Amino acid sequence: MPFSRPNIESFESPLRIQMAEAHLRDHGFMDRLMQVKAPRATEETILLAHSSYVLDSVKLMSEIGRGQLGESSYSSPELFASALLAAGGAQRSVELVVKGDAIHAFSLMRPPGHHASTSTPSGLCYFNNVAIAVKYAMEKLGVRRASILDFDDHFGNGTAEIFYGNPDVQYVSIHEYDYEEYGLGHYMEVGHGKAAGTKVNIPLLEMSPDASYKAAIDRVVVPAINRFRPGLIAVSAGYDAHFADPVGNMDVTTKTFWYLGKTVAKLAEKLGCPGSSWVLEGGYNTMVIGPCIEASLEGLAGKAMPKLSDQVERKTDGIIVEANERIVDQVLETLDPYW
Ligand SMILES: [Zn+2]
Repeated sequence: MPFSRPNIESFESPLRIQMAEAHLRDHGFMDRLMQVKAPRATEETILLAHSSYVLDSVKLMSEIGRGQLGESSYSSPELFASALLAAGGAQRSVELVVKGDAIHAFSLMRPPGHHASTSTPSGLCYFNNVAIAVKYAMEKLGVRRASILDFDDHFGNGTAEIFYGNPDVQYVSIHEYDYEEYGLGHYMEVGHGKAAGTKVNIPLLEMSPDASYKAAIDRVVVPAINRFRPGLIAVSAGYDAHFADPVGNMDVTTKTFWYLGKTVAKLAEKLGCPGSSWVLEGGYNTMVIGPCIEASLEGLAGKAMPKLSDQVERKTDGIIVEANERIVDQVLETLDPYW
């Protein structure tokens, strides 16, 4: 592969953002994009999606400066300030889109958020940035219905939990799933009560290639969002499904991330949404995260797929592609009664 896999230790690091920013700058994106600084989210905004215990414990543990807040969620002295900035970036991105100052906005921030639930930081996440942004859009900016598309390698259990009983928020997730061990993110999780059918999980097999993502997007993501008719599309953009990622085990290239950008832009236009708001989740190969974001941005801007150096010929496993098609069949069959 053209990129080495980095050391697994300390992989959710500031270098992720620095490398992504450097890549975008070196490729002329800073002249094409409007750059906006993220404000710190207020405590009131954090409480739109979280219990006061999460807010206070992140603050307290940050003052202590070390220790663990949840599974794989460690504290450090600047944690609280960073987490408020990440949530503030997400909040600002929906504000820009809903108020018409931007069509699409991308919040290049860390720490990520989609594993943080109402009451528990977990999996490198403290505050659920995308959930906070969507709640903010709905409660403060008048958005009535929102779709969240999450293509991070991992299932966004925190986002799913926060909105599981909310019929006005659709959650559509494509993720890696272990059909031997099982776990959260199964396609049978469809939402509770009036929200049944608004939670759409597409659990793909390990080592899924671009072809399986394309099938999931075309056969499930597009019809699901079209049917829901959201007033805003929020995107949990995780790039750890890339084949060179040290954490995820999928086999996709930047072609998929371009296609996701293109698809979201087309959906927003067709549905008359003001646009889409993207929030960075995972993606831990610092050599790859920049090109991945570049691909998404070009897709969003309606440009042709950029030729990127990771787009080498990959050997596709036909058995995985075929098995994923059957999984997509199951997803559609499960959702059929609600559609
Ligand atoms: Zn992830």
